[in-house]
Parts: sequence; C-alpha cells; structure tokens
Amino acid sequence: MWIFRHHKNLSGHLTFRRTSGDLIGFVPTMGALHKGHLALIRQAMRECGAAVCSIFVNPTQFNDPADLERYPRTTGRDIGMLTATGCQVLYLPAVTEIYPGKTNPAAVPLRGTALDPGPLATVMEGAFRPGHFDGVMQVVHRLLDLVRPDCLYMGQKDYQQVSMIRFLLQATSSPVRLVMSPTVREADGLAMSSRNALLTPADRRRAPSIADTLSWTGTVLNQLPPRAIEAEAMERLRRAGLEPEYVSLADGFTLQPVEDPARHAVIVACAAARAGKVRLIDNLLLKGHPDLAVELS
Ligand code: AMP
Repeated sequence: MWIFRHHKNLSGHLTFRRTSGDLIGFVPTMGALHKGHLALIRQAMRECGAAVCSIFVNPTQFNDPADLERYPRTTGRDIGMLTATGCQVLYLPAVTEIYPGKTNPAAVPLRGTALDPGPLATVMEGAFRPGHFDGVMQVVHRLLDLVRPDCLYMGQKDYQQVSMIRFLLQATSSPVRLVMSPTVREADGLAMSSRNALLTPADRRRAPSIADTLSWTGTVLNQLPPRAIEAEAMERLRRAGLEPEYVSLADGFTLQPVEDPARHAVIVACAAARAGKVRLIDNLLLKGHPDLAVELS
C-alpha cells in the first residue's frame, strides 16, 4: 500500500493510476478502523479499481475538546488492516496540510454562506453538536479538492452526514458520485463505530438497545403517531440504562420530522444516546431508500 502525507505526491500517484484506467474511489475516515470502514474500502475497490483511504482526525468537527482528545488513534493497526484488505493508497495528512497556516484551525461557519444547507443542518446532530457539520463540510470540501476522486464512499451509519455531503456536492456542482454504503453491525446489532472501543463492558451490553429501539419504531410506524413513537423510543432507551438525546422519525431527504408516514417516500429513524461517557448514533431506514426514490417534498 502506498502511504502519502503530502497531497502533491498523492496527486502525482493518482494521475498515474488514472492514466492506467482506474477510477478513484475515496473513503475519508478518522481512523481507528473497523469492519464498517473496510466494507467501504472493499466497495470502492470493487467499483472503481483504486481505493484511496484517508485518515485524518479533523479537529474542526469536534464541538467538545474532551471528545477530540479521547478519540482513539491507532494508525499502526489501521495500516495493517488496510494492507490486509488490499487498499492501494492511504493518505495521512497532517493538520497543517489540511489547514495550511492555521496553528489552531476552527470550523468556518456555513450559516448564511452559499454552502449553508439550511434546515438539514439544524436538526438532530446539528442541534446537539453545534458547529459539528461546519467542520465536516469544511474538511470534506478540502479533502475532495486535494484527492479529486470520481466516487466518494460514505456510511449510512452517519445518515445526516451523507445528506449534508449530498447537498455540498450539489451546491458546488461537483462531478463526484456519492455512494452511501449500508451500516455494518456487530452480531448483537450495535452499529460498528470507532467509539465502541471506549465503552465499558456494562455500557457495551446496554448499547445494542439503540438498534433494537430503532427496529421497534419500524414495527409501529403505521400504528402510532410519529411523536408518540419517538417519546416511547426515548423511554425505552432510558429503561435500557442509556441517556437518549433524540429519536427522530425523519423524512429521508429533508431530515425534517415526519407527520404522516404515507406522505413520505423515504423515512429514516435516527437516534443519539449516551452510554456512560460515550455518545453513540444510529439510524434505520423504515421506508424506501434515498438512492431509489424520487424526492416528494
Ligand atoms: P469515521 O471514521 O467515523 O469518520 O467514519 C468514516 C466513514 O466510515 C464514514 O463515512 C462513516 O459513515 C463510515 N462508517 C463508520 N461506521 C460505519 C459502519 N458501522 N458501517 C458503515 N460505514 C461506517
């Protein structure tokens, strides 16, 4: 596997790959890799020929400095996993490469700019992690500029993030094709996440109740009002020993709360909850799929 720390060397190598007929599939990550990340890399290799993985713990998307400090960093192990998976290229930029000249980079606020995604960014993660998506949009924008891929692979695990990046690509008239890959789960249903490694054994036992609760919302989608389902889902998470932040039955495109399920082509149930000190998110498509449906609203 080729490892690049500087985008000039990376670009040279990717030009060579393009001339030999490969498309470039890009998988941006923050490292501490697990099978969810590797599934994205495999899909990129299958569909594009060449997969580029980046590992960059982006300081501007952490609204909580303690979260940034705690975030697991396992680069040596990650390199081993990527090599075993057959990933051809790893981009490992330093903070100064992504944010040149800024010793202490801050997220550039999107509000009021041409890249302001409006209500997409103010619900769910946007409401509970102020500034988070400003940082995500900033880093993905920059990474796309440096890597110039044909396809961008992102996990459904971060559904709202995918929606934001879909908006970013549209807003910048980007030719990059966005591919949303399904969430990879542990055997007990817990969505794989780098943060799972930080769970205490007791919290690890509680954590699958998030996926269970999201599945339950699907069973009652057509029987109870959406707000009643969300309230009961929050209660279920509390009873399981978690501290829920939100459960939202949302339109799969606009991410705004669903009132009448019949009026939406795509419905996604999203949740965030704390297990001890660790904040976990998950979601489940209850109706339709954004890649297969026409936006109604
Ligand atoms: P992260 O390193 O957490 O920033 O994630 C990098 C990419 O991997 C993002 O597009 C995530 O949505 C995706 N990802 C993380 N966990 C999973 C998972 N369990 N299944 C599928 N994709 C995932």
